This record gives sequence, structure tokens and C-alpha cells, in this order.
Amino acid sequence: MNTVWVFGDQLNRHIGALAHAEPARDRVLMVEAVQQIASKRYHRQRLHLVLAAMRRLASELATAGFEVDYRRAPTLLDGLAAHRAEHRPDRVVATEPLSWGLRRMLERVDVEMVRSNQFLCHPEEFASWAGATGRFRLEEFYRWQRQRLGYLMDGDQPAGGRWNFDAENRQRPPRDGRNWPAPVRSQLDDLDQAVLADLPTSAFGADPIGLWATSRRAALARLRGFIEEVLPGFGPYEDAMLRSDSDLLSGTNRWRLSHSMLSHALNIGLLLPGEVCDAVEDAYRAGHVPVASAEGFLRQVIGWREYVWNLYWRWMPDWRTMNELDARRPLPPAFLGAPTHMRCVAETIAGIDDRAWVHHIQRLMVLANLAMLAGVSPQAVARWMAASFVDGSEWVMVPNVVGMAMWADGGRVATKPYAAGGAYINRMSDYCGSCAYDPKQRTGPSACPFSTLYWDFIARHADRFEANHRMRQPLHTLRRLPDLAEVRTRAEEVLHLLDEGRL
Ligand code: SF4
Repeated sequence: MNTVWVFGDQLNRHIGALAHAEPARDRVLMVEAVQQIASKRYHRQRLHLVLAAMRRLASELATAGFEVDYRRAPTLLDGLAAHRAEHRPDRVVATEPLSWGLRRMLERVDVEMVRSNQFLCHPEEFASWAGATGRFRLEEFYRWQRQRLGYLMDGDQPAGGRWNFDAENRQRPPRDGRNWPAPVRSQLDDLDQAVLADLPTSAFGADPIGLWATSRRAALARLRGFIEEVLPGFGPYEDAMLRSDSDLLSGTNRWRLSHSMLSHALNIGLLLPGEVCDAVEDAYRAGHVPVASAEGFLRQVIGWREYVWNLYWRWMPDWRTMNELDARRPLPPAFLGAPTHMRCVAETIAGIDDRAWVHHIQRLMVLANLAMLAGVSPQAVARWMAASFVDGSEWVMVPNVVGMAMWADGGRVATKPYAAGGAYINRMSDYCGSCAYDPKQRTGPSACPFSTLYWDFIARHADRFEANHRMRQPLHTLRRLPDLAEVRTRAEEVLHLLDEGRL
């Protein structure tokens, strides 16, 4: 018999090697790598998601007639060795994995790989689109995807007459105290409790409350809920940030706004991007969803998500170690649970602790922005985010953190650093009104740390940014700052307080 080895981010009967497997010919191998799981400080909800979804798929496959060898072993390699010793399979086959390191490992241990259908654009297709020059842009890739996949197209023209509805989709947070869509939830069962009992003591964060799908059926329920209740309002407030209520499950769901909360299911394979996009297309054609909302969401799935996935394979392994700004500061204690007076950071970290998820602007413009301004190691931030978020993994975090958010690749992904002071956070959130700091001040004890560090960051790297025409305006303003010396003195104090966990 052959063995089909299924990993914890490929948990779908319709993916790659498993799609073609038959109980009479193929045995399934799944391995919980206990030592690897305990080696990092993972969020409990991240570990629970993956392990519960693995165990549920194993049970479903057994019900479908497969012999499933489900192992707990120190490492993946230990699990494979034990499986081979016990079952002596003719061949071991896996779907192309989602991590560069795992792919290299499979090549070393003679595991055959089947082409993955987990993304709509395979790296081979991306390579032929990008051509030999390697000169490509996200917007061009996105339009190519729209055209070749046929999403939101009226003939050869974009639906609604435009490719891009960002202008409608970047609004400030509403102040009307409205309620936001309630997330679909699952009841935890005996399998969930068994998984929680097995989690290592190194794991942190609150226990799950059923927000995250751990089966295909639960993931499809969340997709339906998103299409019917959330997508019509997706878009206008996708960059807005609101303070949470003290009760996570109150009716307001301010922490959720109109985000899909589907990334966890997509990133472990419970949902496939094509079926998500098909559902969006159908809802738009049925007149259920405005074109700006449908376009804003599709842009994230077939544009950015597929773009960074392909860049990951194109630029690994050197991409993950790049540190263009020579940022070496360790993670701030505030990221690891120390109390902080910065309301935006406190809200975001509390959200991570509660549910292992905050949306992209909280990740990009609060956490990664502060880390970049302060000179925190991009590798430390990427590792921390990959372990802390329910949808985290290396292929997500290297492009988004090392590339886009912290500009550690010197502009491969983002033409200029996504650096912002307190004014941006004040405009796009309701955080600053209840903060101990003042976003309009950059010096003195009440100055917003983001505002102080922003100008210190620009000054610190002024020589490097000189050649970047997109940095001309901030450099011009920097030279006219009347209080730059005071700003830089205050920045030293801010960085000291940040390191001490007293900011
Ligand atoms: Fe964050 Fe500064 Fe606003 Fe406080 S004032 S919430 S630190 S941006």
C-alpha cells in the first residue's frame, strides 16, 4: 500500500494527494509533532485549531474507509520513521507543502510530492506570468488573476467599470455605536476538550470559545455566514479599528467589524480559495452584495494572498533573514503581556490574548508599525506573530512582516515603509481618546510614542531613504521640524521605557 501523508495545513479531502487517494490503495499518515509544538510559545487557540482539525479529519477519513495512522511523535521525521518501520509503505506521497523548510525535508527523506491545488495560482503559473525579468506589481498580478479566473468580469471589462474600489473602502470608523455581525460559533465537544488537555504548558492565551472552524462542515457554515451577513458591509470599514467591549460575546462585536474571519480556515485548507471566490461572485451576481464590497474582498484573496504566497516561494530562503534596517531590538514586553499605557497596543494585545486574532490594520499599523519604528528585529516579530495568530504561518508572516510591514527587505514588496505616527491611528480608530498619550504631541511625557518614534525613525534612516522618491515628503518635513533635537531625546526615553515594559 501507499501512504498519503497529510499535514496540519492541508486538512481537506479535496487537496492534492488526498483528493486522489482511495481506501483500497492508500493509507493516511498524520503526525502531531509534540516536541515541535512545545518548542515555541504558541497561542492555545492556534494549537487547538490545528490539532482539533487534524483529529476531526482523521476521524472523517476513517469513517470513509481509510486506514489512518495518526501518531503523536517528537518530530515529523520521528513520526515518518515510525510509520515506515511499522507499515513499510511502497511509496510515501504528500501534497506540495506550504513551508519552504518542510519541502526541503520531504526531498531529503524521499517523499514524493503531488502538485498542490490549495491556491489558485501555482508558483509555476506565477513564474510564467512574471517572466524572466522578475519585474512585477501587485496590481498587474491582481488584474491578471481577475481576467484569467473570470471573477467580477463583464466580458473583458471589470464589473462596475473599475478595477479598484479602494477609495470607497478606506473609511474612518463610524461613531454611531452600531452592532457588527455576530460570528458563527461552534459548541466545543469531547474532542476539543481532549485537545485542550494535551496542549503544552508553553502555550499562552485564552481557551477557545468556538470562534474557529475545526472541521470542513464548520468552515462551510462560516463561509455561508460571511456571504449572507458580513460581505454586504465588507469594505467601507476594512481599515478601521474600534475598541472592544469588555464582553467578547456582547452583541456589538466591535472587534470584528465586517471582517470575514475566514483566514484561519483558508490557511489550514478547510476552505479552498476558489470556492470562497465563487460564493462571492454568486452573491454579487444575485444582487446581494455591492460591487465595492465584492471587489474589496476578492482583491484580498486572489490579489494579495496569492501574490505573497508566490513571492514566498520565489524569494525564500534569503527573504526571511533580511534585515535591511539593521533592527535588532528584542520583542517589547508589551507584546508579551506586560501592561502598557498605549491604548492602541493594549487593545490589540488583549484581542490576541482573547481570540488569537486581530485584523490586518491592527497587525500592520499598530504592532508592526511600532516594532519597525522602535527597531525591533523583524525575524522576532514574524516568529511571534506566526505563533500568536490563529491564521499564522511562515508563508504569511515573512511577506507580510519582513516584507511589507517592517520593510526589512529594503523595498522588494513595499515601495516605501508603512511607517505612521499617532495621527494615522487617531484618524482610523477610537483608541486615542482614552489613551494616556496625546497623538498630537511628539515631545514631552504625554507625547504619543508613535509620533515621537516616527520622526526619530525617519531621522535615523534619512541617508538610506534619500534615494527613495516616495520618502521625499517626510524627509522634507523632517528638515523643517523645529524641535527635532527634543524629539530625538524623547525617543531615547521612549525606547528605554518600551524595553523596560513601562511605556
Ligand atoms: Fe496609540 Fe498614540 Fe493613540 Fe495612544 S495616542 S492610542 S499610543 S496612537
